[in-house]
Formats: sequence, C-alpha cells, structure tokens
Amino acid sequence: MFKLDSEQALLDSFRPKDRALVEVTKEVQTPLFVRDYLAWAHPAGGRMFLIFSVPGGVPTGIVFDTNGGGGPPVPHMCDWCHNSGLGTEVGLLTARVNGKKRAGMLLCSDLSCKQKLEDEANRSGRSVLPAMAKLLERMGRFASEVLKIDLTGAGR
Ligand SMILES: [Zn+2]
Repeated sequence: MFKLDSEQALLDSFRPKDRALVEVTKEVQTPLFVRDYLAWAHPAGGRMFLIFSVPGGVPTGIVFDTNGGGGPPVPHMCDWCHNSGLGTEVGLLTARVNGKKRAGMLLCSDLSCKQKLEDEANRSGRSVLPAMAKLLERMGRFASEVLKIDLTGAGR
C-alpha cells in the first residue's frame, strides 16, 4: 500500500524522461491510496501507465506502448498473471529502456492482472495475497532488471 499525495508525487514515480508522456486523467485524481498497483490508459489509447511498489521500495511508474493491441487471434499468456487471452486481451506491451532501446513483455493489454487474480482466488476460495505478491515481484523484476529502474528511488 502506498499513497500518492499529489499529481507531482504521481509524476515523480516515473523516470524524468517518461514524465512528459504521462497523461493524468480523472481516474487518477490525487490524493490516492493504492493497495497493490495503479494502472490506467491514455484517453487517446495506445499507451498504458502503471505505478506499483515492491516491499521496501518507492512508487515506481512505467509507461507502456500497447503497439495497437490487436495481435494475431491466437491465445497468449500474460507474463505477469499467467492468464491467457487472445491478441486483443494479452499483447506485447513495450517500454523504453533508454533513448535507443525498448523492451517488451506479453501482458494483459489493460493491465487488469489484479482483477484476474482476484477472480481466480474467489473461484478457488484461496487468498489472493500470495499471487498478488508474486505479481508485484514480477513487475519489480521487469522494472529493475530490464528497464534498469532503481526501485528504491535512487537517481530518479
Ligand atoms: Zn496479466
């Protein structure tokens, strides 16, 4: 759980080079308490924003391009929540590593992993907490190992 006090705090969770791409919409009016992660779409489409936090870390934002969604009509598995969906539901989302390089993962196109894990937990009668912890861990690994973002907030 973390709190975003202001629009500035929300923007500060992104890397400086990504901040200009972030569109703060009505859905993310601050102050805001976030239980696990916050995801919202650019109103014009084509972009997804994610803010999450790993235990002991600071809120960390990632800007994803959805690359038009609509991949081939074959099922893909989301790398984060392991649910499967067709090209419009699970697709390649890419984020900027640096000026020259982008990296991508197959993810739920609307980053609705949380809802899917919650539905699954409700159906099976299990607690969602272990699955949610793993989800945040995978987000953290992508941010730190692939995008080279320091999750403690250093150098941001
Ligand atoms: Zn997912």
